[in-house]
Amino acid sequence: MTDRRPMIAGNWKMNLGGDEAAVLVKDISEGIKGVQGVEVLVAPPFTLLQTVREAIGSSPVFLAGQNMHWEPRGAFTGEISGRMLQESGCTHVILGHSERRSLFGETSEDIDKKAKTAVLLGLIPVICIGETLEERETGRTFKVIKDQLDRSLANFIKDGLLLPSTILAYEPVWAIGTGKTATPEQAQDVHSFIRKWVADNFNTGTAQHVRILYGGSVKPSNVSELMSQTDIDGALVGGASLTADNFIPIVCYK
Ligand code: PEP
Repeated sequence: MTDRRPMIAGNWKMNLGGDEAAVLVKDISEGIKGVQGVEVLVAPPFTLLQTVREAIGSSPVFLAGQNMHWEPRGAFTGEISGRMLQESGCTHVILGHSERRSLFGETSEDIDKKAKTAVLLGLIPVICIGETLEERETGRTFKVIKDQLDRSLANFIKDGLLLPSTILAYEPVWAIGTGKTATPEQAQDVHSFIRKWVADNFNTGTAQHVRILYGGSVKPSNVSELMSQTDIDGALVGGASLTADNFIPIVCYK
């Protein structure tokens, strides 16, 4: 790894109540005191953003939305805008999580529009991509990843600019919430493919700066080996981000 700062991000999904969320983020803040050189991000449900922001206080924990709409405002019942996320304290937004893609019909074209809006607002997008088990077993992993990147970042390609702060997350669908983790070598192969894709579509400088997180059943026992891979710059953690006992050791993986 060059000078890329590792990031450990927790996606809380549709879990936790207000009190639990406040306690969890306070425990995390306490547990990571003094930890240097790792960025920490949490993505609570929308309704908990304000509570979590207050509980974070001055601790260096970044806040992310789990999704957003690409339009700034309007008749979009049930949706939330990027500006609303920012007003709630978010600096980042997760886009294109496989659950959004598979359960809510989000397409790469939707994610492309969302990513463009996020960047225009100054939100850092965490853009998720990943293949299904069937796609892996039929030898289509790289084709699927390339297709998702081509389509989810189409606006950036058209503009010829990918901000180096952009974060990509490789999350093999078959490893999310299943307890199955990609081997460090399997993950590294895809991460290096993604970095090369960034170099080919933008430039090598951008490719060296963009962080690529791995997600899929990351836990305290497997994080160090994953993080030792050249092109793995952090982790996007689901289940194990819901307790301080699991999340803090992941942040302190070194
Ligand atoms: C996720 O949902 O992004 C994820 C990686 O979940 P888990 O860590 O539970 O596999």
